Amino acid sequence: MDRIGESLAARGGRPVRDTPLAFSRPSFGEEETRAVASVLESGWITTGPRVADLERALAGSVGAAHAVCLDSCTAALHVALAALDLRPGDEVITSPLTFCSTVHAIEHAGGIPVLADVEPDTLNLDPEGVKAALTARTRVLLPVHYGGHPADMDPLLELARDRGLTVVEDAAHASGAAYRGRPVGSLGQATCFSFYATKNMTTGEGGALVTDRQDLAERARILSLHGMTRDAWGRYTASGGWHYDVVASGYKYNMTDLEAALGLCQLQKLPGFITRRRALAARLTAGLAADPAVLVPTARGDVEPAWHLYPIRLRTEGLDVGRDRFLEDLRAENIGVSVHFIPIHHHTHFKGRLGAEGDFPVAEDAFRRLVSLPIYPAMTDADADDVIAAVLKVAAHHRR
Ligand SMILES: *Cc1c(COP(=O)(O)O)cnc(C)c1O
Repeated sequence: MDRIGESLAARGGRPVRDTPLAFSRPSFGEEETRAVASVLESGWITTGPRVADLERALAGSVGAAHAVCLDSCTAALHVALAALDLRPGDEVITSPLTFCSTVHAIEHAGGIPVLADVEPDTLNLDPEGVKAALTARTRVLLPVHYGGHPADMDPLLELARDRGLTVVEDAAHASGAAYRGRPVGSLGQATCFSFYATKNMTTGEGGALVTDRQDLAERARILSLHGMTRDAWGRYTASGGWHYDVVASGYKYNMTDLEAALGLCQLQKLPGFITRRRALAARLTAGLAADPAVLVPTARGDVEPAWHLYPIRLRTEGLDVGRDRFLEDLRAENIGVSVHFIPIHHHTHFKGRLGAEGDFPVAEDAFRRLVSLPIYPAMTDADADDVIAAVLKVAAHHRR
């Protein structure tokens, strides 16, 4: 297993693996195949009884009153914010270390995104940074549970209570996570999950908005289907009438029964998936923590992370290359790797408007060091050992 002495694959040496290890791969079994086939055979493939089943199961799994299944987490974030009826100039505070769609959703809902820096250990929104970013126009706090490690919610919820703000969570990474014994989905006023192909449970494309607030759930449901007061399942079944009313300028964000059939299987498997992710994280940490070039991700004692990502940070001070080259060298060793995330204010669309270089030093420093290593239930222990061997090999070659 020790391949440190061999030359780097990037320099013509033999790679740690003969075949590429994917960065991410979903876990499907016979159950998913049968569930999708049964929807096809039923003759009802769009939003219908399977979606209703998944909504009940999701709400039950996190102890929330309502779940609205949608075709993405992006859609869930959009309708959650749209349901709050933001007024022009209303501000939504979120993290610079997220996917662009978190911030797009704020813009689409008519809000003004405001970024606040992240904490050095978890890379989640720093409650102190949020306090500093508050203005009279702040309406919503939008923490992102980075990598599946829950953000420090109690200080954020307290701040929201004191100031009359709403907390909407981007839980795209956090299906199956818990904070101080409470499941993610039971913390803020609205929680948005992603069931995209790479996420902890997947329906291909898909997402859900989970909330205890009936007004938010009802409004989101109407907005997500053309602003109509009844969905197609209600209109086309024998017991339903043809009549409906349009009461808002809505969107087309509904989930299909084909997707929900996958989601029901995946939700059942989620606890097992998380257990496997946790074991893989522990294995990677045991293999990597002693290397002086690697800062491994840690979990706070009061959370159960979902380990959607395993992001290491490189101590580049002790290396003769930067993150980009290190990452390319890992790819040459046949290890799929990625970076989460390019800070929001580095993108052309947001640059200047949402911040300049130097405004969010913790996120910016993390970005220069971050490498996401593969972690997913379909990985074997041997796969994880290959990841460890490749990181140790590349680090050893670039030690100053
Ligand atoms: C994947 C992701 C999203 C978007 O999820 P979709 O279901 O693809 O819309 C939003 N936020 C974060 C942090 C993500 O990683």
